[in-house]
Amino acid sequence: MEKHIAVIPGDGIGPEIVNQALKVLDAVGAKYAHTFTYEEVDMGGVAIDKWGEPLPQAMLEKCLASDSVLLGAVGGPKWDTLPGDRRPEKGLLALRKAMGLYSNLRPAKLWPQLREASPLKDAIVEQGIDFVVVRELIGGVYFGQHRTETVHGQQVATDVMPYSEEEIRRIGHIAFQAARKRRGKVTSVDKANVLDTSRLWRKVMHQLQAEYPDVTYQDMLVDNAAMQIVRCPSQFDVIVTENMFGDILSDEASMVTGSIGMIPSSSLGEGTRGLYEPIHGSAPDIAGQDKANPIGTILSAAMMLLYSFDLPQEAAAVEQAVAQVLGDGLRTGDSMAPGCTLVSCSQMGDAIAARIGS
Ligand code: NAD
Repeated sequence: MEKHIAVIPGDGIGPEIVNQALKVLDAVGAKYAHTFTYEEVDMGGVAIDKWGEPLPQAMLEKCLASDSVLLGAVGGPKWDTLPGDRRPEKGLLALRKAMGLYSNLRPAKLWPQLREASPLKDAIVEQGIDFVVVRELIGGVYFGQHRTETVHGQQVATDVMPYSEEEIRRIGHIAFQAARKRRGKVTSVDKANVLDTSRLWRKVMHQLQAEYPDVTYQDMLVDNAAMQIVRCPSQFDVIVTENMFGDILSDEASMVTGSIGMIPSSSLGEGTRGLYEPIHGSAPDIAGQDKANPIGTILSAAMMLLYSFDLPQEAAAVEQAVAQVLGDGLRTGDSMAPGCTLVSCSQMGDAIAARIGS
């Protein structure tokens, strides 16, 4: 297989962590006879410095012409004082919009080797945590009408939460398809006892359920879901939910697994081209010191192999290589524990790539 990947190193630790992910992709290519070619794209602060804007059109076009996009992180104190429309994050929002990325997948997986990093009790953690939150990304209350007006002498604010059947159906398909590549279970989270948008959400999900008879399905109210994630996270495989509920639940889900440097994400739209990035930012406090944890970015590349290129064996090989280095006690500073060996960002990348080749 030949795939052309647009690579956005970005700012801060971005270039360091992205380089490690490319090492790992090269090792996958060598072992499984695939060719991955890379094209570097300037986005964020680096693009502002070089081109005067966070995502120049020529850079966006490189992403749109690629098979998939890998991103490190953007932003940093140097650009914090710029006006809103010229900030590094604007580039990321413009990219998501231009690529039509309406679904965000964020796995919550607790590595047994990092069990102590979870704030949950041992009895809960021992059952395992391995699920993914599929969040609708460009609809709902964040994109509805917002207004504040004065009524009878006091301010009244209103945020509108619209959802169309089609917006629900397309994110539903992503969730059911993700479940087929995992353990075959979808939990749809809504607030159907109160909200019209949730009642429509539930109706459309039930229609979709008939198209995926091999997938187990359940509805869950969002308040219950928030409790169940900390009470019994092992029950979940794929959680699908609307934008705001997903924003909140995916942060809760990543927290129960521990270190921020370990967590990948993917954003997908129509077709197979996606945007893959770790959930953390550009960590300016450790940038340029070869200290960052590259595993979130490496696991983002594994998600690309699975969801964009349909290479489950190769994706699993990356996850296994990560498990092996953790099992061997290698740790970057953020997840260092007694008895483990401290390694740099690049040493961690080398170690994971070497285990793929072995
Ligand atoms: P951050 O995630 O960059 O850092 C928070 C803390 O976690 C820091 O102490 C940092 O050193 C640590 N950390 C983060 N990733 C790490 C890794 N891989 N390995 C080891 N330690 C890691 O969040 P922040 O400090 O709030 O934001 C810094 C900049 O990143 C800001 O400009 C922000 O706007 C930007 N940001 C970008 C994205 C993105 O590109 N998607 C996301 C969030 C924040």
